[in-house]
Amino acid sequence: MAAPDFQVVESGGITYTCGCPCEPTASPAADGAPGHEHCCCGKVHFVGEGAATAMTAYLADRKAKRKREPDYTTGATRVPTPGGTVEVAWAFPIEA
Ligand SMILES: [Zn+2]
Ligand SMILES: [Zn+2]
Repeated sequence: MAAPDFQVVESGGITYTCGCPCEPTASPAADGAPGHEHCCCGKVHFVGEGAATAMTAYLADRKAKRKREPDYTTGATRVPTPGGTVEVAWAFPIEA
């Protein structure tokens, strides 16, 4: 699956066209740890160095704790920012 159309927003966070009314935006924490947003529609994205690793752990944790957790299509990319690039990972539920 091609990467979503990730874009940098004014706050420095990363968003994409989700398809629901939200504008899901995530940015790294002050200490550089990846930040994430889990949209109301079930899509997840992580932003920051180590995003893919953090997302894998997050999804595994959810799968362990929840009965109804969907399967996801996942991927990772680097998104250009004013200061260089940032690692972005995403997980979108596979439509049943
Ligand atoms: Zn939404
Ligand atoms: Zn959404």
